[in-house]
Amino acid sequence: MKTVLILSGGLDSTTLLYELLAEKHEVYALSFDYGQRHVKEIGMAMHTCHHLQVPHRIVSLSSLTPLLSNSSLTNPDIPIPYGSYEEESMKLTVVPARNLIMSSIAIGYAANIGAGQVALGVHAGDHAIYPDCRPAFIYALNAVAHISHFTPINIYTPFMYETKGGIVKRGLKLGVDYSLTWTCYEGKDKPCGKCGACVERAEAFAANHVEDPLCIG
Ligand SMILES: [Zn+2]
Repeated sequence: MKTVLILSGGLDSTTLLYELLAEKHEVYALSFDYGQRHVKEIGMAMHTCHHLQVPHRIVSLSSLTPLLSNSSLTNPDIPIPYGSYEEESMKLTVVPARNLIMSSIAIGYAANIGAGQVALGVHAGDHAIYPDCRPAFIYALNAVAHISHFTPINIYTPFMYETKGGIVKRGLKLGVDYSLTWTCYEGKDKPCGKCGACVERAEAFAANHVEDPLCIG
């Protein structure tokens, strides 16, 4: 079963990669450079795919950055908000229609290589802030993917109702190497520990009573 996976190099999509391989999917990973603040996550995705011998392509969407500049992830003049993921200030991290844009390209790639599925690591913690991670969006995307090409393409989101802590729990069982994942919105040597992404990641590891390998040492 051929499956295209949108792989950011973060915790969720990397866990999904391990899960797809365990389920015997033939995975083709896609990462996107849309002019985000740093490409540290993409570097992690490259390492993981190399380690797992999964074909990986990086799509440059950097020419789109000026069109999507109203986000702290694509505009260095907008500061990264600190605090919990559910706070109103986290809306500054929304890149407009990012999942719609990436999914469209992934659906085209899937159609091109005869893959029947596009997998995304969206999860319940994304719903509050990111409109194109919510179930209503995913259901509509699935309907569109079914009629986009000669044969239907399924949108596969097994983490849609899973918490980040639940994803780490699944990943620990699968032996995910979380030292090869990056979550922090900033691209420094170590995670900042203060941005919404860092706070949510720390809570996910704490819920499983394990230390985040990125925060050891
Ligand atoms: Zn951070």
